[in-house]
Amino acid sequence: MSASYRQLLDATIQHVEGLKARGVRHVAVAPETLRALAQSPGKFPISDFRFPVEKNSAGAPPARAETNVPTQNNLPAPKTISPAAEQPATGNRQSAMDKSTAFAALRERALACVKCPHLAVSRKNVVFGVGSIDAQLMFVGEAPGADEDERGEPFVGKAGQLLTKIIQATGLSRADVYIANILKCRPDTPGQSAGNRKPTPEEMQTCIPYLHEQIDLIQPKVIVALGATAVEGLLGKTVGITKLRGNWQTYRGTPLMPTYHPAYLLRNQAMSEKRRVWEDMLAVMEKLGMPISEKQRNFFLKA
Ligand code: URA
Repeated sequence: MSASYRQLLDATIQHVEGLKARGVRHVAVAPETLRALAQSPGKFPISDFRFPVEKNSAGAPPARAETNVPTQNNLPAPKTISPAAEQPATGNRQSAMDKSTAFAALRERALACVKCPHLAVSRKNVVFGVGSIDAQLMFVGEAPGADEDERGEPFVGKAGQLLTKIIQATGLSRADVYIANILKCRPDTPGQSAGNRKPTPEEMQTCIPYLHEQIDLIQPKVIVALGATAVEGLLGKTVGITKLRGNWQTYRGTPLMPTYHPAYLLRNQAMSEKRRVWEDMLAVMEKLGMPISEKQRNFFLKA
């Protein structure tokens, strides 16, 4: 068992014992945490807990080992990353636990939310968010679709699978970043058996405080807004995404990159559009100080 795993285990046991002493009998555990815990300690993915990039004194993440592997999909090959063997400083352990407790409490509140009664009755699941609460990079989409509503996890349908490939093309995984939506419930479509609709301004206004709190706790270094609704929800801007994409914006002091929603890339398969999204991701990688290979720089330049 690695020292960092042992440290996390000790901190978790301490925290749970503290809760038990205060009379708490049940704790909410996110599905992704359960999946991570189900793995053997020897293979425990430390990157599930933080972005696998250590900051150096200049604030820039160091280079990481990476290998390109062949891929069958039409997005470039994902890269495997050696996660930084970073250990939480002992002094930070308490605040890390405070953060995860606050995040779990926020999740509980969102899961029980009935502020939009029409959505509370139509939803199967509240889709809170997924990923690392210590992520440096956060993706924000519009609202859950049918697949997400079914599974209680954002971006797991076709558009989500494409988003996953885009994330992997940067060398990261879904567990390294955090993914959430403006709206936590699937917009209802009364009288329709299928299809999606854009959240109404009232629904967005009602739900957005959860996202604000998620961002406040995670404190990502960069936010990627996927599509016009995400930009509208976060920045209040209704300028077309075609105009905004690729141009850095600021969300409460955090750099925000607007880009196309992956669903748009599914509708428009042109290489030029994929390249535009990829250029936005290259800008994000640069902002985060991530290493970029020559191969990555050239993705989607040639047919
Ligand atoms: N589209 C979104 O905007 N969010 C999801 O979670 C899925 C599809």
